[in-house]
Amino acid sequence: MKHNLDTNIDYFERHINTIRRKYALVCIFLIVLATIPVALGRATSGWDNASTIQFTCTIILLLMFTRVYNKGYEKAAGMVIFFVDMILMSVVILDPLGSPLIVLFFITPLLVAYLFFQARVALLLSTLAYSILSFLYFLQYIDTNSSEFPFEMVLLVFSGISCVAGLHVVIGLRYDIEKRLMSVAHTDALTHLPNRMYFNDRLTQELSRTDREHMNLCLGLIDLDLFKRINDTYGHECGDKVLVQVANIINQSIREQDIACRVGGEEIAIIMPNVTAAEAINILERLRQEIQHTTIRWNKHTINLTISVGIAEYSPNQDKLQLYSEADSAMYKAKKNGRNQVACYEP
Ligand code: GH3
Ligand code: MG
Ligand code: MG
Repeated sequence: MKHNLDTNIDYFERHINTIRRKYALVCIFLIVLATIPVALGRATSGWDNASTIQFTCTIILLLMFTRVYNKGYEKAAGMVIFFVDMILMSVVILDPLGSPLIVLFFITPLLVAYLFFQARVALLLSTLAYSILSFLYFLQYIDTNSSEFPFEMVLLVFSGISCVAGLHVVIGLRYDIEKRLMSVAHTDALTHLPNRMYFNDRLTQELSRTDREHMNLCLGLIDLDLFKRINDTYGHECGDKVLVQVANIINQSIREQDIACRVGGEEIAIIMPNVTAAEAINILERLRQEIQHTTIRWNKHTINLTISVGIAEYSPNQDKLQLYSEADSAMYKAKKNGRNQVACYEP
C-alpha cells in the first residue's frame, strides 16, 4: 500500500497559510493604493508633520506585511500593523489636504483584525476600529447643519455594519468552521480520543521529526483483554462505558507529549516521542497496573478489566507500517503469554 506523505494536518496548515499569504499581498496592494493619492497631493503642496507621519506609517506597514508574507502570521505583527494602520488612517482623515474618499479604506484595519485574530477578537477589534474612524470622519467631513446629515449618518453606520459583517462571515467564521471540521474529522465520537486518521498523520509527522532531530520514539499498542465477554455479559452499552473510562484513564496518565489515539474497536495506540524502550515499558506498566486496579460500576455490578500492551522502538528511517506491525506482534505476544502484561518487540 502506498502512503501519502502529504498528511491532512500538513495540508490544512499549508492551505490556511497560502490563503493568508494571498491576503497579505492584497493588503500591501491596498496600502500602496491608499497612499499614492495622498503622496501625490502632498508632493504638490509641500512637506509638513502630517506627511512625515503618513509616510513613516506607510513604510512600517509595508515592512510588516512583507515580513508576514515571508515568515507567516504572528499575533505581535498583527497588533503592530493594526495600530500603525489606525494611526495612518486617523492622520489621513484629519488631514486638511485629505479627501472624503478615504472612507473606502476603512476596511484595511478590519481586514488586519480578521487575518491575525480569532473571529471573536476580530469582531471586537474591527467594531472598535470602525467606530473610532467613523467618529473622526464625522468630525472632519459631516456637516450637522446640512439637510443631508441624517442620510449621511445612516450611510456611515450601514457601511460599517456591512464591512464588519461581511468580513466576519467570509474570513472569521470560515476559519473557525474549517478548524472545527478538521477537529471533528480527527476525533473518535465515542471516546473523544484522536482517531485512526489523525494517528496516521501524526505518526508520519512524529517519525520525520524523530529522524530530523535524532531522537528516540516508541509506539505502544493497547488492546483490552477479553472485552467481548464484557459486551456479552453486560451488553454493548456497558462495553461503551468501559471503553470511555479506559480511554480517559489512558489520556490522563500519559505524559503531555504522548499522543493516545483510538485505532481500532478496543485498541488504542500511543505515540511516545523522545522515549527509549525501557522508559516506555515503565510508563505503560504503570498504566497497566492502574487499569487493573480500577473498578467500573454498571447497574450494581462492578467490572474489572485488564489490558495487554505491545511496544516497538523506532529505528531511524524505519517504515511506519513496519513499526506498527512490530508493536502489534509484541501485543500478540503479551496476549499469548497470558494477557494483562506489557511486552516489547524483539527482532
Ligand atoms: P482478546 O483479549 O483476545 O483481545 O479478547 P477480546 O474479546 O477483547 O477480543 P476480540 O477481538 O475477540 O473482541 C473485541 C471486541 O470488542 C469485539 C467487539 O464487539 C468489541 N468492540 C469493538 N468496538 C467496540 C465499541 O465501540 N463498543 C463496544 N461496546 N464494543 C466494541
Ligand atoms: Mg482487538
Ligand atoms: Mg481485545
